Amino acid sequence: MADSIVRTLLQESNLKVSVAVVTEVAREARRRHRMLPASASLFAQGAVGAALLASLQKGETRINLQLECDGPFRGFFVDAAANGEIRGYVKNPHLDLELSSGVFQWRAALGNTGFLSVLRDVGSEYYRSSVELVAMRFEDDLNHYFATSDQVATRVSITVQREGDEGLGRVAGVLLQALPDSDPEALRRLGGELETRLHDAVESLEVLDATALLAALFPGVPPMIETPLKFTCNCSKERAMGTIQGLGVDEVQDIVDTMGSTAVTCQFCGARHEITLPDLWELLERLGRPQPKH
Ligand SMILES: [Zn+2]
Repeated sequence: MADSIVRTLLQESNLKVSVAVVTEVAREARRRHRMLPASASLFAQGAVGAALLASLQKGETRINLQLECDGPFRGFFVDAAANGEIRGYVKNPHLDLELSSGVFQWRAALGNTGFLSVLRDVGSEYYRSSVELVAMRFEDDLNHYFATSDQVATRVSITVQREGDEGLGRVAGVLLQALPDSDPEALRRLGGELETRLHDAVESLEVLDATALLAALFPGVPPMIETPLKFTCNCSKERAMGTIQGLGVDEVQDIVDTMGSTAVTCQFCGARHEITLPDLWELLERLGRPQPKH
């Protein structure tokens, strides 16, 4: 089943709802960055969080969701666009811990202190807000972020469920956000039971997709907008050449003289862009030091 996010409105309580299924995106990120299970699960949680945050944005806005921590995981970076494109990486892909269950499940990976930051890129301007990690559990810290940094009352829940040997069996999340005239009691009540409700709804479905999940969470509420979600990166060989060009003429000359070629690996998607000797000659020409004819 393809990943997507559906958005709609709970008419009676006047709450905005986003429901996301991000299983394939999370597996693609794991494959590209060769993540071990604990790293992959933490990234999956971040991908759900970023997709839910991006669903609240308009038009071309991008969301950068960044977690930094002093535990061995060290953090993740997820870049998500309102159009459904998601990419990202973790600082330590090699984390494979035997994790206890319960609220302290992620302490061994995340450590004792850290930050959660959200950067909104609205094309011409950036807005950044960050909070200290207090729960050392991503879902709780994301709720803490909303409670302290965002003016609008919001609740989120995220689940990553195992299926047999597959650690990323089912990856999903839900976000509820108040509208100006919504009932604060309704959000408190639904928010309080959101985690249990999400877990049970994801488990109950034969086939998990965002529309079916919305129906299981809120029976009778039709989806209004559905956006496909995909792991997509906008890197290219031309951009990689731009990076090398940015090193300056002497550095490029040095690469030509010492190595003869180089490569740029994209941090976001793991793609490797080979920069050959003729490419380097072209860069020197662009930098105003044309090479003798070869
Ligand atoms: Zn890339």
